[in-house]
Amino acid sequence: MENRMRMLNALQYEKGRNVVYWMSRDQRIEDNWALLYAQKNALEDQSSLSVVFCLVTDYPEAAKSHFDFMMTGLFKLIKKLEAYHIPLHILRGKPDEVLPAYLILSGSSRLVSDFSPLHVNQEWKESVTSKIHVPHSEVDTRNIVPCFKVSSKKEYGAYTLRPKINRLMGEFLTDIPSITQHPIPFEANYDFDTFLNNHQVFPDSFSVCSSSGEDQAKCCFNGFVENTLERYASRNDPNADAVSHLSKYLHFGQISSQRIAYEISKNRIPDHGFLEELIVRRELGDNFCFYEKNYDNALCFPDWAKLTLNDHRNDFRDYLYDIEAFEAGKTHEPLWNAAQNQMTSTGYMHGYMRMYWAKKILEWSPDPETAMAIAIYLNNKYQLDGRDPNGYAGIAWSIGGVHDRAWVPRNVFGKIRYMNYNGCKRKFDVDKYIKAYI
Ligand SMILES: Cc1cc2nc3c(=O)[nH]c(=O)nc-3n(C[C@H](O)[C@H](O)[C@H](O)COP(=O)(O)OP(=O)(O)OC[C@H]3O[C@@H](n4cnc5c(N)ncnc54)[C@H](O)[C@@H]3O)c2cc1C
Repeated sequence: MENRMRMLNALQYEKGRNVVYWMSRDQRIEDNWALLYAQKNALEDQSSLSVVFCLVTDYPEAAKSHFDFMMTGLFKLIKKLEAYHIPLHILRGKPDEVLPAYLILSGSSRLVSDFSPLHVNQEWKESVTSKIHVPHSEVDTRNIVPCFKVSSKKEYGAYTLRPKINRLMGEFLTDIPSITQHPIPFEANYDFDTFLNNHQVFPDSFSVCSSSGEDQAKCCFNGFVENTLERYASRNDPNADAVSHLSKYLHFGQISSQRIAYEISKNRIPDHGFLEELIVRRELGDNFCFYEKNYDNALCFPDWAKLTLNDHRNDFRDYLYDIEAFEAGKTHEPLWNAAQNQMTSTGYMHGYMRMYWAKKILEWSPDPETAMAIAIYLNNKYQLDGRDPNGYAGIAWSIGGVHDRAWVPRNVFGKIRYMNYNGCKRKFDVDKYIKAYI
Protein backbone atom coordinates (compact mmCIF):
# COMPACT_ATOMS: atom_id res chain seq x y z
CA MET A 1 0.00 0.00 0.00
CA GLU A 2 3.08 2.27 0.15
CA ASN A 3 2.64 2.81 -3.60
CA ARG A 4 -0.53 4.85 -2.91
CA MET A 5 1.19 7.12 -0.39
CA ARG A 6 3.36 10.21 -0.45
CA MET A 7 4.93 12.10 2.44
CA LEU A 8 3.77 15.69 2.96
CA ASN A 9 6.65 16.60 5.26
CA ALA A 10 10.08 15.24 6.11
CA LEU A 11 9.73 15.03 9.89
CA GLN A 12 11.25 12.06 11.67
CA TYR A 13 9.06 9.65 13.59
CA GLU A 14 9.38 9.93 17.35
CA LYS A 15 7.78 7.40 19.63
CA GLY A 16 4.26 8.29 20.70
CA ARG A 17 1.22 6.37 21.83
CA ASN A 18 -1.26 6.89 18.97
CA VAL A 19 -1.58 7.22 15.18
CA VAL A 20 -4.28 9.42 13.65
CA TYR A 21 -6.15 8.94 10.41
CA TRP A 22 -7.65 12.30 9.41
CA MET A 23 -10.67 11.15 7.43
CA SER A 24 -11.91 13.76 5.01
CA ARG A 25 -12.89 12.68 1.54
CA ASP A 26 -13.09 8.92 2.00
CA GLN A 27 -15.79 8.41 4.59
CA ARG A 28 -15.78 4.63 4.86
CA ILE A 29 -14.17 1.81 6.79
CA GLU A 30 -14.15 -0.86 4.13
CA ASP A 31 -11.68 -0.69 1.26
CA ASN A 32 -10.04 2.44 2.59
CA TRP A 33 -6.28 2.41 1.93
CA ALA A 34 -5.68 5.46 4.12
CA LEU A 35 -7.23 3.74 7.15
CA LEU A 36 -5.35 0.54 6.34
CA TYR A 37 -2.09 2.44 6.07
CA ALA A 38 -2.74 4.21 9.39
CA GLN A 39 -3.43 0.87 11.06
CA LYS A 40 -0.27 -0.64 9.58
CA ASN A 41 1.73 2.24 11.07
CA ALA A 42 0.00 1.92 14.41
CA LEU A 43 0.69 -1.81 14.59
CA GLU A 44 4.36 -1.28 13.71
CA ASP A 45 4.65 1.48 16.31
CA GLN A 46 2.66 -0.54 18.87
CA SER A 47 0.32 2.41 19.20
CA SER A 48 -3.40 2.89 19.39
CA LEU A 49 -5.25 4.21 16.35
CA SER A 50 -7.91 6.90 16.16
CA VAL A 51 -9.84 8.51 13.34
CA VAL A 52 -10.72 12.20 13.24
CA PHE A 53 -13.19 14.03 11.04
CA CYS A 54 -13.19 17.84 11.14
CA LEU A 55 -16.60 19.28 10.49
CA VAL A 56 -16.46 22.70 8.87
CA THR A 57 -20.00 24.04 8.99
CA ASP A 58 -19.29 26.88 6.55
CA TYR A 59 -17.71 24.52 3.98
CA PRO A 60 -17.92 26.39 0.65
CA GLU A 61 -21.26 25.81 -1.11
CA ALA A 62 -22.39 22.96 1.14
CA ALA A 63 -26.16 22.85 1.73
CA LYS A 64 -28.25 21.20 4.47
CA SER A 65 -28.89 18.15 2.26
CA HIS A 66 -25.12 17.63 1.88
CA PHE A 67 -24.55 17.87 5.65
CA ASP A 68 -27.43 15.52 6.48
CA PHE A 69 -26.23 12.92 3.99
CA MET A 70 -22.61 13.17 5.11
CA MET A 71 -23.26 13.24 8.85
CA THR A 72 -25.66 10.28 8.72
CA GLY A 73 -22.93 8.25 7.06
CA LEU A 74 -20.27 9.42 9.50
CA PHE A 75 -22.28 8.71 12.64
CA LYS A 76 -22.85 5.17 11.37
CA LEU A 77 -19.08 4.76 11.12
CA ILE A 78 -18.58 5.58 14.81
CA LYS A 79 -20.51 2.46 15.83
CA LYS A 80 -18.82 0.25 13.25
CA LEU A 81 -15.34 1.40 14.24
CA GLU A 82 -16.03 0.74 17.92
CA ALA A 83 -16.09 -2.96 17.07
CA TYR A 84 -12.49 -2.58 15.84
CA HIS A 85 -11.47 -0.69 19.01
CA ILE A 86 -10.84 2.43 16.96
CA PRO A 87 -12.57 5.64 18.07
CA LEU A 88 -13.88 8.10 15.48
CA HIS A 89 -13.91 11.65 16.82
CA ILE A 90 -16.05 14.08 14.86
CA LEU A 91 -14.84 17.55 15.81
CA ARG A 92 -16.26 20.94 14.96
CA GLY A 93 -13.73 23.34 13.47
CA LYS A 94 -11.30 23.87 10.62
CA PRO A 95 -8.68 21.11 10.41
CA ASP A 96 -5.78 23.50 10.95
CA GLU A 97 -7.49 24.83 14.09
CA VAL A 98 -8.31 21.48 15.74
CA LEU A 99 -5.90 18.85 14.41
CA PRO A 100 -2.62 20.21 15.80
CA ALA A 101 -4.07 20.30 19.33
CA TYR A 102 -5.70 16.89 18.87
CA LEU A 103 -2.36 15.36 17.89
CA ILE A 104 -0.59 16.76 20.93
CA LEU A 105 -3.33 15.92 23.44
CA SER A 106 -3.70 12.36 22.15
CA GLY A 107 0.08 11.80 22.23
CA SER A 108 0.07 11.00 18.52
CA SER A 109 3.23 10.32 16.59
CA ARG A 110 1.91 10.18 13.03
CA LEU A 111 -0.82 11.72 10.88
CA VAL A 112 -2.25 9.96 7.82
CA SER A 113 -4.74 11.71 5.54
CA ASP A 114 -6.68 10.90 2.41
CA PHE A 115 -6.31 12.79 -0.88
CA SER A 116 -8.32 15.48 -2.64
CA PRO A 117 -7.15 17.83 -5.39
CA LEU A 118 -9.65 20.60 -4.55
CA HIS A 119 -8.39 24.00 -3.36
CA VAL A 120 -10.05 23.97 0.03
CA ASN A 121 -8.66 20.54 0.94
CA GLN A 122 -5.20 21.31 -0.40
CA GLU A 123 -5.09 24.56 1.58
CA TRP A 124 -6.14 22.81 4.80
CA LYS A 125 -3.54 20.13 4.17
CA GLU A 126 -0.78 22.69 3.73
CA SER A 127 -1.82 24.65 6.78
CA VAL A 128 -2.12 21.55 8.98
CA THR A 129 1.27 20.30 7.79
CA SER A 130 2.90 23.61 8.65
CA LYS A 131 1.51 23.49 12.20
CA ILE A 132 2.28 19.92 13.29
CA HIS A 133 5.42 18.18 14.55
CA VAL A 134 4.82 14.60 13.37
CA PRO A 135 5.28 12.86 10.00
CA HIS A 136 2.26 13.46 7.73
CA SER A 137 1.51 11.02 4.93
CA GLU A 138 -1.22 11.25 2.32
CA VAL A 139 -2.83 8.18 0.77
CA ASP A 140 -4.89 8.38 -2.41
CA THR A 141 -7.73 5.97 -1.75
CA ARG A 142 -10.18 7.69 -4.09
CA ASN A 143 -8.51 6.83 -7.38
CA ILE A 144 -7.63 3.30 -8.41
CA VAL A 145 -4.29 4.51 -9.76
CA PRO A 146 -3.17 7.33 -7.44
CA CYS A 147 -3.58 10.74 -9.02
CA PHE A 148 -0.01 11.81 -8.18
CA LYS A 149 1.38 8.56 -9.65
CA VAL A 150 -0.55 8.13 -12.88
CA SER A 151 0.59 11.37 -14.49
CA SER A 152 2.76 14.35 -13.65
CA LYS A 153 0.76 16.81 -15.75
CA LYS A 154 -2.69 17.95 -16.79
CA GLU A 155 -3.90 15.47 -19.40
CA TYR A 156 -5.42 16.60 -22.71
CA GLY A 157 -8.27 14.16 -22.45
CA ALA A 158 -9.42 10.63 -21.76
CA TYR A 159 -7.37 9.46 -24.74
CA THR A 160 -4.08 10.51 -23.10
CA LEU A 161 -4.94 9.41 -19.55
CA ARG A 162 -6.40 6.01 -20.53
CA PRO A 163 -3.11 4.36 -21.61
CA LYS A 164 -1.36 5.68 -18.49
CA ILE A 165 -4.03 4.16 -16.26
CA ASN A 166 -4.07 0.91 -18.20
CA ARG A 167 -0.29 0.55 -17.86
CA LEU A 168 -0.64 0.58 -14.06
CA MET A 169 -3.87 -1.37 -13.66
CA GLY A 170 -2.10 -4.67 -13.01
CA GLU A 171 -0.33 -3.09 -10.05
CA PHE A 172 -3.30 -1.19 -8.60
CA LEU A 173 -6.55 -3.01 -9.46
CA THR A 174 -6.18 -5.58 -6.70
CA ASP A 175 -8.36 -6.96 -3.95
CA ILE A 176 -8.26 -4.84 -0.78
CA PRO A 177 -7.63 -6.29 2.68
CA SER A 178 -9.84 -5.52 5.67
CA ILE A 179 -8.78 -3.68 8.79
CA THR A 180 -8.50 -5.84 11.87
CA GLN A 181 -9.57 -5.38 15.44
CA HIS A 182 -6.94 -3.04 16.82
CA PRO A 183 -5.03 -4.63 19.73
CA ILE A 184 -3.99 -1.43 21.51
CA PRO A 185 -6.85 0.61 22.97
CA PHE A 186 -6.99 4.39 22.67
CA GLU A 187 -6.43 6.05 26.02
CA ALA A 188 -7.73 9.49 26.79
CA ASN A 189 -6.63 11.68 29.68
CA TYR A 190 -8.19 14.67 31.42
CA ASP A 191 -6.84 17.27 28.94
CA PHE A 192 -7.93 15.21 25.95
CA ASP A 193 -11.43 14.73 27.37
CA THR A 194 -11.74 18.46 27.99
CA PHE A 195 -10.67 19.17 24.42
CA LEU A 196 -13.15 16.60 23.12
CA ASN A 197 -15.98 18.08 25.16
CA ASN A 198 -15.28 21.47 23.62
CA HIS A 199 -15.21 20.23 20.03
CA GLN A 200 -17.26 17.08 19.67
CA VAL A 201 -20.24 17.10 17.28
CA PHE A 202 -23.41 15.21 18.16
CA PRO A 203 -25.97 13.65 15.80
CA ASP A 204 -28.94 15.68 17.02
CA SER A 205 -27.82 18.73 14.97
CA PHE A 206 -28.60 16.85 11.74
CA SER A 207 -31.55 15.12 10.10
CA VAL A 208 -31.12 11.42 9.41
CA CYS A 209 -30.84 10.62 5.71
CA SER A 210 -31.98 7.01 5.29
CA SER A 211 -30.17 6.48 1.98
CA SER A 212 -26.74 7.38 3.38
CA GLY A 213 -24.01 5.03 4.62
CA GLU A 214 -21.54 2.36 3.63
CA ASP A 215 -24.18 -0.39 3.70
CA GLN A 216 -26.58 1.66 1.58
CA ALA A 217 -23.77 2.31 -0.92
CA LYS A 218 -23.06 -1.40 -1.17
CA CYS A 219 -26.75 -2.12 -1.61
CA CYS A 220 -26.93 0.44 -4.42
CA PHE A 221 -23.95 -1.18 -6.14
CA ASN A 222 -25.32 -4.72 -5.78
CA GLY A 223 -28.74 -3.64 -7.05
CA PHE A 224 -27.12 -1.94 -10.03
CA VAL A 225 -25.11 -5.03 -10.96
CA GLU A 226 -28.11 -7.33 -10.57
CA ASN A 227 -30.77 -5.23 -12.25
CA THR A 228 -29.34 -2.42 -14.34
CA LEU A 229 -25.77 -2.90 -15.53
CA GLU A 230 -26.81 -5.02 -18.50
CA ARG A 231 -28.78 -1.98 -19.77
CA TYR A 232 -25.91 0.47 -19.25
CA ALA A 233 -25.36 0.86 -23.01
CA SER A 234 -28.63 2.85 -23.10
CA ARG A 235 -27.38 5.19 -20.34
CA ASN A 236 -27.84 8.29 -22.50
CA ASP A 237 -31.62 7.93 -22.34
CA PRO A 238 -32.67 9.81 -19.19
CA ASN A 239 -35.97 7.88 -19.09
CA ALA A 240 -34.32 4.47 -19.23
CA ASP A 241 -32.93 4.51 -15.68
CA ALA A 242 -29.93 2.58 -16.95
CA VAL A 243 -27.35 4.24 -14.70
CA SER A 244 -25.95 3.35 -11.29
CA HIS A 245 -26.85 6.38 -9.10
CA LEU A 246 -23.59 5.68 -7.30
CA SER A 247 -22.24 9.23 -7.64
CA LYS A 248 -23.37 10.49 -4.20
CA TYR A 249 -21.74 7.48 -2.52
CA LEU A 250 -18.57 7.88 -4.55
CA HIS A 251 -18.49 11.60 -3.87
CA PHE A 252 -18.67 11.17 -0.09
CA GLY A 253 -16.30 8.21 -0.25
CA GLN A 254 -18.90 5.80 1.15
CA ILE A 255 -17.83 3.22 -1.42
CA SER A 256 -14.52 2.54 -3.14
CA SER A 257 -14.32 2.70 -6.93
CA GLN A 258 -11.54 0.12 -6.72
CA ARG A 259 -13.89 -2.34 -4.98
CA ILE A 260 -16.56 -1.74 -7.65
CA ALA A 261 -14.12 -2.20 -10.53
CA TYR A 262 -12.44 -5.18 -8.90
CA GLU A 263 -15.71 -7.05 -8.33
CA ILE A 264 -16.92 -6.42 -11.87
CA SER A 265 -13.58 -7.45 -13.40
CA LYS A 266 -13.00 -10.47 -11.13
CA ASN A 267 -16.46 -11.87 -11.89
CA ARG A 268 -16.04 -11.07 -15.59
CA ILE A 269 -19.34 -9.21 -15.69
CA PRO A 270 -19.87 -7.47 -19.04
CA ASP A 271 -19.67 -3.78 -18.13
CA HIS A 272 -21.06 -2.09 -21.30
CA GLY A 273 -18.75 0.91 -20.92
CA PHE A 274 -19.37 1.40 -17.18
CA LEU A 275 -15.72 0.92 -16.17
CA GLU A 276 -14.60 3.54 -18.68
CA GLU A 277 -16.83 6.10 -16.90
CA LEU A 278 -15.98 4.90 -13.40
CA ILE A 279 -12.25 4.73 -13.94
CA VAL A 280 -11.00 6.85 -16.86
CA ARG A 281 -13.58 9.67 -16.84
CA ARG A 282 -13.67 9.84 -13.06
CA GLU A 283 -9.90 9.79 -12.57
CA LEU A 284 -9.58 12.40 -15.33
CA GLY A 285 -11.58 14.73 -13.05
CA ASP A 286 -9.00 14.43 -10.29
CA ASN A 287 -6.14 14.86 -12.76
CA PHE A 288 -7.77 18.04 -14.09
CA CYS A 289 -8.32 19.62 -10.68
CA PHE A 290 -4.94 18.55 -9.33
CA TYR A 291 -2.90 20.10 -12.14
CA GLU A 292 -5.19 23.00 -13.18
CA LYS A 293 -5.47 25.62 -10.47
CA ASN A 294 -8.17 27.48 -12.42
CA TYR A 295 -10.46 24.45 -12.59
CA ASP A 296 -13.35 26.58 -11.30
CA ASN A 297 -13.16 29.47 -13.77
CA ALA A 298 -12.88 30.10 -17.51
CA LEU A 299 -9.08 30.48 -17.42
CA CYS A 300 -8.92 26.68 -17.44
CA PHE A 301 -10.28 26.45 -21.00
CA PRO A 302 -7.77 25.32 -23.64
CA ASP A 303 -6.38 28.06 -25.89
CA TRP A 304 -8.43 27.04 -28.95
CA ALA A 305 -11.61 27.27 -26.85
CA LYS A 306 -10.69 30.65 -25.33
CA LEU A 307 -10.05 32.02 -28.86
CA THR A 308 -13.24 30.72 -30.40
CA LEU A 309 -15.43 31.76 -27.45
CA ASN A 310 -13.85 35.22 -27.63
CA ASP A 311 -14.60 35.46 -31.35
CA HIS A 312 -18.26 34.77 -30.56
CA ARG A 313 -18.46 36.83 -27.36
CA ASN A 314 -20.66 39.49 -28.94
CA ASP A 315 -22.93 37.18 -30.95
CA PHE A 316 -26.63 37.87 -30.60
CA ARG A 317 -28.33 35.59 -28.02
CA ASP A 318 -31.96 34.63 -28.67
CA TYR A 319 -32.53 34.33 -24.93
CA LEU A 320 -30.68 35.74 -21.93
CA TYR A 321 -31.32 34.71 -18.34
CA ASP A 322 -29.86 35.76 -15.04
CA ILE A 323 -28.93 33.42 -12.24
CA GLU A 324 -32.34 33.80 -10.53
CA ALA A 325 -34.23 32.67 -13.64
CA PHE A 326 -31.93 29.68 -14.09
CA GLU A 327 -32.17 28.75 -10.44
CA ALA A 328 -35.97 28.95 -10.45
CA GLY A 329 -36.12 26.80 -13.62
CA LYS A 330 -37.92 29.60 -15.46
CA THR A 331 -36.49 29.58 -18.97
CA HIS A 332 -38.60 29.40 -22.15
CA GLU A 333 -37.67 25.73 -22.59
CA PRO A 334 -39.55 22.99 -20.66
CA LEU A 335 -36.77 20.45 -21.24
CA TRP A 336 -34.12 22.60 -19.56
CA ASN A 337 -36.55 23.53 -16.77
CA ALA A 338 -37.30 19.83 -16.21
CA ALA A 339 -33.58 19.05 -15.86
CA GLN A 340 -33.18 21.91 -13.40
CA ASN A 341 -36.22 20.64 -11.46
CA GLN A 342 -34.88 17.10 -11.41
CA MET A 343 -31.73 18.47 -9.78
CA THR A 344 -33.40 20.81 -7.27
CA SER A 345 -36.10 18.33 -6.24
CA THR A 346 -34.06 15.10 -6.11
CA GLY A 347 -30.42 16.22 -5.66
CA TYR A 348 -29.51 14.37 -8.86
CA MET A 349 -29.65 15.19 -12.56
CA HIS A 350 -29.22 12.49 -15.17
CA GLY A 351 -25.74 12.52 -16.75
CA TYR A 352 -26.88 13.18 -20.32
CA MET A 353 -29.05 16.07 -19.16
CA ARG A 354 -26.10 17.56 -17.25
CA MET A 355 -24.28 18.11 -20.54
CA TYR A 356 -27.32 19.65 -22.20
CA TRP A 357 -28.13 21.75 -19.13
CA ALA A 358 -24.62 23.27 -18.93
CA LYS A 359 -24.42 23.95 -22.66
CA LYS A 360 -27.72 25.83 -22.60
CA ILE A 361 -26.42 27.95 -19.73
CA LEU A 362 -23.59 28.95 -22.09
CA GLU A 363 -26.07 29.70 -24.89
CA TRP A 364 -28.36 31.84 -22.69
CA SER A 365 -25.77 33.75 -20.64
CA PRO A 366 -24.09 37.04 -21.59
CA ASP A 367 -20.58 35.49 -21.70
CA PRO A 368 -18.76 32.19 -21.03
CA GLU A 369 -17.30 33.40 -17.72
CA THR A 370 -20.78 34.11 -16.34
CA ALA A 371 -22.06 30.80 -17.71
CA MET A 372 -19.26 28.90 -15.99
CA ALA A 373 -19.91 30.64 -12.66
CA ILE A 374 -23.69 30.00 -12.83
CA ALA A 375 -23.28 26.33 -13.75
CA ILE A 376 -20.78 25.73 -10.92
CA TYR A 377 -22.95 27.56 -8.40
CA LEU A 378 -26.11 25.57 -9.24
CA ASN A 379 -24.31 22.24 -9.64
CA ASN A 380 -22.53 22.58 -6.32
CA LYS A 381 -25.58 23.80 -4.45
CA TYR A 382 -28.11 21.23 -5.63
CA GLN A 383 -26.40 18.03 -6.74
CA LEU A 384 -25.74 15.70 -3.85
CA ASP A 385 -22.59 14.68 -5.72
CA GLY A 386 -21.65 18.35 -6.35
CA ARG A 387 -18.43 20.09 -5.24
CA ASP A 388 -16.57 17.23 -6.87
CA PRO A 389 -13.72 17.20 -9.42
CA ASN A 390 -16.12 15.41 -11.81
CA GLY A 391 -18.43 18.42 -11.62
CA TYR A 392 -15.69 20.97 -12.35
CA ALA A 393 -14.38 18.83 -15.22
CA GLY A 394 -17.90 18.16 -16.58
CA ILE A 395 -18.80 21.84 -16.58
CA ALA A 396 -15.47 22.87 -18.13
CA TRP A 397 -16.02 20.19 -20.80
CA SER A 398 -19.53 21.42 -21.59
CA ILE A 399 -18.82 25.15 -21.61
CA GLY A 400 -15.11 25.42 -22.36
CA GLY A 401 -14.12 22.41 -24.48
CA VAL A 402 -11.84 20.94 -21.78
CA HIS A 403 -10.91 17.32 -22.68
CA ASP A 404 -12.81 17.79 -25.97
CA ARG A 405 -11.91 18.89 -29.50
CA ALA A 406 -13.03 21.66 -31.85
CA TRP A 407 -16.29 21.18 -33.79
CA VAL A 408 -17.97 23.03 -36.65
CA PRO A 409 -18.33 26.71 -35.58
CA ARG A 410 -21.72 28.18 -34.76
CA ASN A 411 -23.35 31.14 -33.08
CA VAL A 412 -22.26 31.83 -29.44
CA PHE A 413 -20.56 28.42 -29.08
CA GLY A 414 -17.89 28.97 -31.72
CA LYS A 415 -16.13 25.61 -32.03
CA ILE A 416 -17.39 24.26 -28.68
CA ARG A 417 -19.47 21.10 -29.17
CA TYR A 418 -23.13 22.04 -29.56
CA MET A 419 -26.23 20.24 -28.27
CA ASN A 420 -29.80 21.13 -29.08
CA TYR A 421 -33.40 20.24 -28.37
CA ASN A 422 -33.89 18.37 -31.66
CA GLY A 423 -30.86 16.23 -30.92
CA CYS A 424 -32.45 15.27 -27.59
CA LYS A 425 -35.74 14.50 -29.36
CA ARG A 426 -33.91 12.10 -31.65
CA LYS A 427 -32.28 10.35 -28.68
CA PHE A 428 -35.12 9.96 -26.18
CA ASP A 429 -38.75 10.71 -25.36
CA VAL A 430 -38.37 14.36 -24.38
CA ASP A 431 -42.03 14.76 -23.36
CA LYS A 432 -41.83 11.81 -20.99
CA TYR A 433 -38.82 13.35 -19.24
CA ILE A 434 -40.53 16.75 -19.04
CA LYS A 435 -43.68 15.20 -17.57
CA ALA A 436 -41.64 13.43 -14.90
CA TYR A 437 -40.06 16.61 -13.56
CA ILE A 438 -42.40 19.52 -14.28
C1 LIG B 1 -22.14 19.58 -16.53
C2 LIG B 1 -21.76 18.33 -15.76
C3 LIG B 1 -21.74 18.37 -14.38
C4 LIG B 1 -21.38 17.21 -13.66
N1 LIG B 1 -21.33 17.30 -12.30
C5 LIG B 1 -20.91 16.22 -11.58
C6 LIG B 1 -20.76 16.31 -10.18
O1 LIG B 1 -20.98 17.39 -9.59
N2 LIG B 1 -20.38 15.19 -9.51
C7 LIG B 1 -20.15 14.01 -10.14
O2 LIG B 1 -19.80 13.02 -9.47
N3 LIG B 1 -20.24 13.92 -11.47
C8 LIG B 1 -20.62 14.98 -12.21
N4 LIG B 1 -20.71 14.87 -13.58
C9 LIG B 1 -20.32 13.60 -14.24
C10 LIG B 1 -21.50 12.61 -14.47
O3 LIG B 1 -22.54 13.25 -15.15
C11 LIG B 1 -22.03 12.05 -13.15
O4 LIG B 1 -20.95 11.50 -12.41
C12 LIG B 1 -23.06 10.94 -13.37
O5 LIG B 1 -24.11 11.42 -14.16
C13 LIG B 1 -23.56 10.48 -12.00
O6 LIG B 1 -24.59 9.56 -12.13
P1 LIG B 1 -24.39 8.00 -11.91
O7 LIG B 1 -23.60 7.73 -10.69
O8 LIG B 1 -25.75 7.38 -12.00
O9 LIG B 1 -23.51 7.68 -13.18
P2 LIG B 1 -23.08 6.33 -13.89
O10 LIG B 1 -23.28 6.55 -15.34
O11 LIG B 1 -23.73 5.17 -13.30
O12 LIG B 1 -21.51 6.31 -13.68
C14 LIG B 1 -20.88 5.69 -12.56
C15 LIG B 1 -19.83 6.61 -12.01
O13 LIG B 1 -18.84 6.89 -12.99
C16 LIG B 1 -18.41 8.24 -12.87
N5 LIG B 1 -18.79 9.00 -14.06
C17 LIG B 1 -19.79 8.74 -14.91
N6 LIG B 1 -19.80 9.65 -15.92
C18 LIG B 1 -18.78 10.48 -15.67
C19 LIG B 1 -18.26 11.63 -16.32
N7 LIG B 1 -18.78 12.08 -17.47
N8 LIG B 1 -17.20 12.26 -15.78
C20 LIG B 1 -16.64 11.80 -14.64
N9 LIG B 1 -17.08 10.73 -13.99
C21 LIG B 1 -18.13 10.07 -14.48
C22 LIG B 1 -19.15 8.83 -11.67
O14 LIG B 1 -18.35 8.67 -10.53
C23 LIG B 1 -20.39 7.96 -11.60
O15 LIG B 1 -20.97 7.92 -10.31
C24 LIG B 1 -21.07 16.02 -14.33
C25 LIG B 1 -21.09 16.00 -15.73
C26 LIG B 1 -21.42 17.14 -16.44
C27 LIG B 1 -21.45 17.10 -17.94
